[in-house]
Amino acid sequence: MISRIDLRGSLPGDLRSVLPRAELDVEAALEKVRPICDDVRHRGAAAVRDYTERFDGVALASARVPAEAIGRALDDLTPGVRDALEECIRRARLVHRDQRRADVTTQVVPGGTVTERWVPVERVGLYVPGGQAVYPSSVVMNVVPAQEAGVGSLAVTSPAQREFGGLPHPVILAACALLGVDEVYAVGGAQAIAMFAYGTEECRPADLVTGPGNIYVAAAKRLLKGVIGIDSEAGPTEIAILADATADPVLVAADLISQAEHDTLAASVLVTDSTELADAVKRELADQVARTKHTERITAALAGRQSGIVLVDDVAAGLKVVDAYAAEHLEIQTADAAAVAARVRNAGAIFVGAHAPVSLGDYLAGSNHVLPTGGCACHSGGLSVQTFLRGIHVVDYDEAALAEATRRVVTLAEAEDLPAHGAALKARFEWGIPE
Ligand code: NAD
Repeated sequence: MISRIDLRGSLPGDLRSVLPRAELDVEAALEKVRPICDDVRHRGAAAVRDYTERFDGVALASARVPAEAIGRALDDLTPGVRDALEECIRRARLVHRDQRRADVTTQVVPGGTVTERWVPVERVGLYVPGGQAVYPSSVVMNVVPAQEAGVGSLAVTSPAQREFGGLPHPVILAACALLGVDEVYAVGGAQAIAMFAYGTEECRPADLVTGPGNIYVAAAKRLLKGVIGIDSEAGPTEIAILADATADPVLVAADLISQAEHDTLAASVLVTDSTELADAVKRELADQVARTKHTERITAALAGRQSGIVLVDDVAAGLKVVDAYAAEHLEIQTADAAAVAARVRNAGAIFVGAHAPVSLGDYLAGSNHVLPTGGCACHSGGLSVQTFLRGIHVVDYDEAALAEATRRVVTLAEAEDLPAHGAALKARFEWGIPE
């Protein structure tokens, strides 16, 4: 069911072109979401309601979830789920609180300082997916870093669910209640991103939208970037596992399946120098997939061109492969896993050894699970407090410090043929350019 790519011998120069990856046609999706976004821009809440009816089968009276529904969802939450969510929040807070940044003032010259001031964005829209699966954990992963950054106004949106009376999934609402978020919308897909970008009669526009989603969500974020700020594109999930002969094939197969469970477009990739492990994992996959719940979705994901087992000569070659792939999630299941993990350059998050599976990171490690996919991990990181902050340079020079800089500023301005720049400084010194 899962394909095999043999890269033993020598690695090709353009490694990326031979590695398994979904051909996600975001360009085609862009054309699909453009009219949706334009319509929301012009017709506002009425357009949001129309697309919710078309794509989610729900006729909304209002996109805003009433406060009573959020309170009721918390009251109805089973104690076990409440306990797990509270611990998920507690651990995420521990990690994200440590990401807060202090303002830094640098004395450049006597009398001249530059301060980097970290200021939270004013209002964010947080997207929580809810198509093929629902993700209360994504409420935590979006909301906690935004709150720790000090964002003043937070709105959560998640697709309307027909079986829950057109509201988002009740555990999503309960997670919002636990986190103290009371502005929640029952809207998914591109129309949700457009609602945050342009605003409607029901929802004020936001400065930034974050959160994972399917190809329509990713395409709308790409289309509206600039109208609204976005985090990295966090699309269909990916797991890569770098493993050697010391790895347990039962655990490797279980972890590959765990991420294939998200989406038929999810990617599960094993990179190994052991043909014995590759064979054993293949047998385990067949056995475990037959026994799991979402067999059809998982089988489609594992059989897709985005998944595969890559054979390499040794762990060093495996490291080159996983760096070229730049997985959203990377597990290291080799001898001396921590040392191997330390050599990785590109990954959204790295999971070290047999006791740190990706499923732990999805919920309870304390790390964030909104991570870059599609190779974006070579230039972007996952969601963090930093995502919600802007660094503002505050420049403060006194007269003597400016006088000392003027001659060089004038020289550079003249070199760029921008004499008015120099003139602006000269105007401050009636006696001419200070030496
Ligand atoms: P979703 O909420 O992203 O998408 C559902 C919405 O898509 C619907 O509300 C609908 O409006 C819209 N839609 C459906 N069909 C459409 C069509 N034909 N045209 C236009 N719009 C349409 O939920 P999902 O589909 O379950 O996808 C969630 C994704 O998020 C999965 O791929 C999962 O792997 C990914 N995910 C990624 C991360 C990460 O950090 N990278 C984390 C969690 C989940």
